[in-house]
Amino acid sequence: MKNLSIVIPVFNEAASLKELLCRTTAACEPYSPYEIICVDDGSWDGSFELLLELKKNYEHLVIVRLQKNSGQSAALTAGFKTAHGSTIVMMDADLQNPPEAIPTLLENMDGFDAVVGWRKDRKDSFLKRAGSRIGNSLRRMILRDPFHDNACSLKAFKSAVAADLVKFNHMIFFLPDLIEIAGYRIKEVPVPHEHRKHGRSKYRTFSLSGISSFWDTLFVKALKKRKLTYTVERIIA
Ligand code: UDP
Ligand code: MG
Repeated sequence: MKNLSIVIPVFNEAASLKELLCRTTAACEPYSPYEIICVDDGSWDGSFELLLELKKNYEHLVIVRLQKNSGQSAALTAGFKTAHGSTIVMMDADLQNPPEAIPTLLENMDGFDAVVGWRKDRKDSFLKRAGSRIGNSLRRMILRDPFHDNACSLKAFKSAVAADLVKFNHMIFFLPDLIEIAGYRIKEVPVPHEHRKHGRSKYRTFSLSGISSFWDTLFVKALKKRKLTYTVERIIA
């Protein structure tokens, strides 16, 4: 058992990987024993080959290679299933989530099962920020949840939380809601955000995803309505 598993989905992020590993390792050192799980989501830019090369110098690196590009939610799920840490931290590979923010999440775990990041000062294009603001407002209205920034990838949770989440394609846009539905205590904290240094976003600003995310929101609403509520009085073994 490790103290900490970092789970990072990687899709064509070769240009960021060296710095990512270097900074993430430095941030995790105080929490040893730890592991950094990079899930290569069918990259074709040499990311996987570079990860194999980096493994020679980074003993804490665990590489999961998906057969083909399967999406961020699938890559994260594969990472969660590989993780051996009592706590899991998820983040992106492109360094928009600075690894130095990992301690901020972990320091806030006291009394909570999950801590989720909120990019208060988001370093994305105006269009992306505007789209995200509309999406967050609509979701908040339909789901009546208090969360500001569901799609922020920087999140920490106990390993039991990851195992209990309802998994589906696009779940990454609803993780705080899914954590609550699974009955866990959750806290939102502001985290820093950086510009993408290399490559481009893997998501288009304008696409049909708005329509599918509307159906996803209704699906999560149905889950929320059927949330199990119970209190264990005692267990006699
Ligand atoms: N990603 C992935 N599979 C995909 C799309 C994205 O593993 O099909 C990864 C990507 O490499 C990055 C993270 O998911 O680590 C977030 O992607 P991106 O930075 O493009 O999203 P944005 O920050 O623009 O919302
Ligand atoms: Mg990004």
